[in-house]
Amino acid sequence: MTGAGVGRTSNGYLLNMAISDSEIAQVRGATDIVALISEYVALKKSGQRWTGLCPFHGEKTPSFSVNAEEGRYYCFGCRVSGDQITFVREMQHLDFVDAVRLLADRAGIELHEDANAGPARKERQAALDAMQRAVAWYHDRLLNAPDARGAREYLKSRGINGELARRFQLGWAPDDWDALCTSLDLTPKLLEATGLGFVNKRKRRQDALRARIIFPIFDPSGKAVAVGGRILATAGDVVRPDGRVEPKYKNSPETIIYSKRKTLYALNWAKDDIIKTGEIIVCEGYTDVIAFFHAGMPRAVATCGTALGEEHFSTMRNFAKRIVLAYDADQAGQSAAASVYQWEQKHEVDVAVARFPAKTDPAELALTNPDALRDAVTNAVPFLQFRLNRVLDAANLSTPEGRARAAQPAMRVLAEHPSELVRDQYVMQVADALRLDVGLLRTQLGEILRRPVTREVPNAPYEYDGSERPATIAPTPRPGLEALRLKLHAPQLVGDRFIARYFVNEVQREVFKGLETGDALSNVIDALERRGDEQSARLLAEMAVEDVPRDFTAEDVTAVVSQLLRSAVAEELKNVERDLRSEVLSPDVAMITVRDVKERLAMLETEDGAVAERDLREWLLARTSSEAL
Ligand SMILES: [Zn+2]
Repeated sequence: MTGAGVGRTSNGYLLNMAISDSEIAQVRGATDIVALISEYVALKKSGQRWTGLCPFHGEKTPSFSVNAEEGRYYCFGCRVSGDQITFVREMQHLDFVDAVRLLADRAGIELHEDANAGPARKERQAALDAMQRAVAWYHDRLLNAPDARGAREYLKSRGINGELARRFQLGWAPDDWDALCTSLDLTPKLLEATGLGFVNKRKRRQDALRARIIFPIFDPSGKAVAVGGRILATAGDVVRPDGRVEPKYKNSPETIIYSKRKTLYALNWAKDDIIKTGEIIVCEGYTDVIAFFHAGMPRAVATCGTALGEEHFSTMRNFAKRIVLAYDADQAGQSAAASVYQWEQKHEVDVAVARFPAKTDPAELALTNPDALRDAVTNAVPFLQFRLNRVLDAANLSTPEGRARAAQPAMRVLAEHPSELVRDQYVMQVADALRLDVGLLRTQLGEILRRPVTREVPNAPYEYDGSERPATIAPTPRPGLEALRLKLHAPQLVGDRFIARYFVNEVQREVFKGLETGDALSNVIDALERRGDEQSARLLAEMAVEDVPRDFTAEDVTAVVSQLLRSAVAEELKNVERDLRSEVLSPDVAMITVRDVKERLAMLETEDGAVAERDLREWLLARTSSEAL
């Protein structure tokens, strides 16, 4: 990751603050999207569009479509969409800024990153350099220093030989106050920027980690950004002179180069195998990760001293669709189920849980029985199945009473899942396991679902409204769609004959308003996404690659205007009726209004159509402004 001024919006899109909008537009404009995508996918001209096999999902018939002029792609199969920048981000797993830089290089455009970004970038670069030097220094100590013998022996006892220690660049922080600071002559500023040390009360530089085995942490591109240190003691707590317990693991603090909420240990080494297999294994600790690599599954990562969270999911989804939690059962059981289901749904990934034989962890298993480790991953069960198994395993299934008692907790576990279709399949499974009537269980589940929800995660990152994710764009009224097509493909014919007020469908209206800005399509889609209006963004993304005949005529526009007017007027007449009932309008006025409006509707497709169109438009606008009062 590069670029200090990078923020993530709600939709996961990285907004860049260092590269100006006009330069981003310039990069998009200079990048031929067909040529770009052709580097990865064979595209064929088909009508106005280019089509090919989607690079984002496996398919045999092409449903991936590219609009060369608008610089957009859309897949009718998996519904991914985007522009040149998103394509590079997805294919090369880059953040927004790096993707823009790559495309700029490709097009020979020099970016003038703004004045603030310059020094920040230098500072970051200096911190990255210092971190890399520290990692090398720690590593050398582990391999060569006499005082690291205990560390080497400990690692060997955990199955980590010299080769693995080199592969993961493990290190040793000696039992000393300032060995690192002084050897590398790190300035107080660099100590702060890296978290490798600090200035103590006596105004002396001090190392952050001492007498610990060092696990360097890299970003996905392989730059060292932080270190984790593990104490050497194999059993029991180490108590400091002041009585506090020394933590087993100590990680770098958050710095300008390291965010623990986003970072996954070993992703830099694991990503190739993750992409190849479509699977990512999430462990609890760094040694577990190394164990998976050692056992021939080099697709394991670990969180860095923090629980698995939303930002980890948005990173992982770029690499794999199946996420296997390789936690010990109790730990996995404690994961907040509600958030796991939310993230599964939001990021379109499947979360499964690997089950290890009792009282073993992956690191042990890799040493004693690597086959069992592999089986645990292969046989990982969906998160809900895992939670359900735990309830059923704990129940006494040998008596009718025991089975009946298990029903309630089992249904509570199922109730957490947001999808009715998923829940119902498990209801049948529970009915089988407990030998209970499926109808009774459904009733019980229904009762639980009707109770007010007590959220497991009070500060959920976003509100889940309980509805299913729409499988596709909700069917929207045809005249509105036609109008949007005309606006998109024949703006000069349309002129200003459409207004937002004509669109009775909210999704279409938002798309229209976006198009009215005259901004580039990608910007309009970005803006809709940023506002959280996914439906409108998706509709526009899909329309952008539609193959449409180009020979629109003024008559097409007139026909669509009349249809739009009819539906908009019909909606508004309902409001007139309401006003009549609530005596806002007198019966006389209402009657005249309805008569006038209907007369003009009838005129729409006659010679006086233009006059009727103007009158109706004015009437609609007047009704809107009177409502606003
Ligand atoms: Zn696709």
